[in-house]
Amino acid sequence: MPEGDTLFRAAATLSRAIGGKLVRAFRSPLPAVASPGARLEGQRIELVEARGKNLLIHFEDGSALHTHLRMTGSWHIYRPGERWQKPPRAARAVIETDDFVAVCFNAPVVELIAKGALAHHPSLSRLGPDILTADFDADLARARLRERAGVLISEALLMQGALAGIGNIYKSETLFVCRIDPFVPVGQLSDATLTRVIAVARDLMSQNLTGGARMTTRFGAAGFSPLRGPRYWVYGRAGDPCLHCGTPVRANRAANPHRTALPASPAANPPRAALPPRPHRTALPPEQTPAASIFAPSGGVATRVTYFCPTCQPPGALGATSEPA
Ligand SMILES: [Zn+2]
Repeated sequence: MPEGDTLFRAAATLSRAIGGKLVRAFRSPLPAVASPGARLEGQRIELVEARGKNLLIHFEDGSALHTHLRMTGSWHIYRPGERWQKPPRAARAVIETDDFVAVCFNAPVVELIAKGALAHHPSLSRLGPDILTADFDADLARARLRERAGVLISEALLMQGALAGIGNIYKSETLFVCRIDPFVPVGQLSDATLTRVIAVARDLMSQNLTGGARMTTRFGAAGFSPLRGPRYWVYGRAGDPCLHCGTPVRANRAANPHRTALPASPAANPPRAALPPRPHRTALPPEQTPAASIFAPSGGVATRVTYFCPTCQPPGALGATSEPA
């Protein structure tokens, strides 16, 4: 599952390439998209936006192309005539403008939403506040989390109806920074702690909206900021020493990891060589030729695995009341 910041960056870069431009051609192998999509030719692209993990391209006539990339999808931008980096048969939607061709590959969700239908869309209308928007409503997000009192905090943070945008990486990183046992139910956490969780997640994600590889360790948690060290505090580091206390980081899928921890299991933390090749996630400076830039989901090490330090986040830890020393 991609993180909201990936989508935010993809939307920003797509916007620079095709925002405000006229659609010269629109193609899709999906009949439900291709048929209404034919009417898009000649329309202006008004806005490209990320909503949580959804990407929306709004057109002048009020319709919107909705894509959700999940683990497999990606958006690429090419110059007209340039060779694509994936086979054309993998394209789910193609938008041509005078200067660029935007191609959505392999996305499991591709649909054209008619004018006026967005407000009633079955999933988009139920999204919680988007953690990366300027008008993000943290109080509403906290209230939505509160409604999930019996859900483990590590699961609740992924529920896009509570707050939209957090994926597996920021879930693990945020709970580490806040010193919270990922496996306590939301109902055990105070309002102050939930407020801090939301603020930390928003901070971590906001720091990764521009340029360079995603990195959370530049956030000065625990008074330790190894700018040249690992990119993450705990995510993807099962078996490696905690950057704060040295205890081996654990990875776990289970609801009660304190009984059934799976430290450094090959499934939870495969060696790099075993990972499928993944495209670059290079953000484009505006002046650079955006040819063949690729926006792909982060290709998480494993879905829904929670990474945590059993010493910094012991069973029942409900979060430090202040920044840990
Ligand atoms: Zn630790």
